[in-house]
Order: sequence, then C-alpha cells, then structure tokens
Amino acid sequence: MLYIGPHLSIAKGFDVAVANARSIDANTFQFFTRNPRGGRAREWREEEISVLKEAVHSGFGPVLAHAPYTLNMASKGERTLEFAELAFREDLERLETIPCDFYNFHPGSHVGQGVAKGIEKILKILNTVMWKEQSTLVLLETMSGKGSEIGSRFEELAEIIKGADCAQHLGVCLDTCHIYSAGYDIVEDLDGVLETFDKVVGIHRLKAIHLNDSMMPFNSKKDRHAPLGKGTIGWETFYNIIHHPQLKDLPFYLETPHEDLEGYGAEIEVLRKAYSR
Ligand code: FE
Ligand code: FE
Ligand code: ZN
Repeated sequence: MLYIGPHLSIAKGFDVAVANARSIDANTFQFFTRNPRGGRAREWREEEISVLKEAVHSGFGPVLAHAPYTLNMASKGERTLEFAELAFREDLERLETIPCDFYNFHPGSHVGQGVAKGIEKILKILNTVMWKEQSTLVLLETMSGKGSEIGSRFEELAEIIKGADCAQHLGVCLDTCHIYSAGYDIVEDLDGVLETFDKVVGIHRLKAIHLNDSMMPFNSKKDRHAPLGKGTIGWETFYNIIHHPQLKDLPFYLETPHEDLEGYGAEIEVLRKAYSR
C-alpha cells in the first residue's frame, strides 16, 4: 500500500483537510499544529476530530503534525527557548487527543553557539517535556544545513537520539530535498545513503519521508523545494524511493506548495501509476 498525501491546512478543520486529501486520491496528510510562523493554536472541535478518527479507521495512513518553523530548541534567546518549550509541550499534549502518529520538528539552529551547545539545548527541552507514556512519536527532520541548522548530518541526529531520556519515542523524517542539499547523494547512490543512515542512526528510526524535489544543486546547503520532477533530483529518484525495500512501507508527504490542490493531485497520480506498475 502506498501511503501518500500532501501538506494541508487545518485552518478550516480536520474534516475539510480529510475531504481535500480524499479528493486528490491521497490517503494521509501533514499539517501545521499552528501558524508556521508561530502564534497560538486553534481549538479543535469534537466533530472534526471524529472525522479524522473515521478516516484513520477506514484506511488512512499515519497522519503527521509539523511543528511551527519558529520553534527553535537550540536558540540563544531566552524568549525563543521559552516559546519552543511551551509550543512543544502544548502540541504534544493536544496530539494525544487525536489519532496522529507523528510530530515532526526541525531540530534547530544554534545561531553561532556551535553544534555541541545546540544539541545540549535541544536535549534539555526534549528531556523536560517528553514523557514515558506519550503515544506520539517525535520525529527529527533531516535538514539542508543552511545557516547554522542542526540535523543536516546523520551523526547529529544520532547524538540527539542517544542523549534523549525517551529515545523510544524518537524517530527521523527524511526530507529528500534537504538531504540532497546537505550532501547525501540519493540520485546517484540511494543504497549507499541508506546504508550510511543505518550505520549512523539505525534504519529502524526512519519513520516518514518528505518527498520534495530541489531547486538547488547537490550539496548546496540551500533549502529550496521544487515540485516533483521539476528540480535537480528528478522523477527517477522518486520512483526509486517509493519502491525501495527499506522505504516503500513508509508514509510519503508532499510539501512543495502548489497554487491549488490539483498540483498535489497531479504528483500523486504520477506516483500511484508508477507504484502499481
Ligand atoms: Fe519541515
Ligand atoms: Fe520537510
Ligand atoms: Zn525544506
């Protein structure tokens, strides 16, 4: 079964997101828990939660919540750190009330403090907030390495997992655009990259894939998504990824913005056709 879906807004409710997903042959989706630039989260209504529950019971794959971009656990500023801890806690608590498997976040930017200090700060929040009985798996997203981003090297992700008290609730979401920009050559050597990931992090930690093409060349350390097939990665690599024995059962999320839903629909149609071949 190919679980694939777009990034969708839940501003009008989970019920609208589910209907939108279904309208383009998607069987999962990703959403922001709150405005991606920060701010307060909207209340979720009972009725929309029931629609989401019904979707998951009738064949939807794992649904993925994405933390706001402004959540930076590695920041220098006290207020930014306070927001990171507060939003992380509030999001995780609310996710317990809906059928959502994953909470994905960008590990953070150390803004000049150095990777070691950054990881120390990330771990401080993870170890303060996460709890033994939580049911949501927290995913570290692989990053492109722009600016002072942490998480563009598999070693950094491994170190965060190693230092976490609740490592059993941690996994990784691999973003194809980001790792290609970070210098992992999934176009020429997908097997080699996965082998490295397995050695450094452990392939069992890999729980989700962000399928994005890239506007930037290999190893550019830039984060510019392109629609599938319209960038430097190309369709062939995406076919390889969705068929790869170590990846084919993971959920795939499309997150390059399109003008309308149909843009995602067209990408899903191409991938579904390729998959059934
Ligand atoms: Fe992301
Ligand atoms: Fe991503
Ligand atoms: Zn990105």
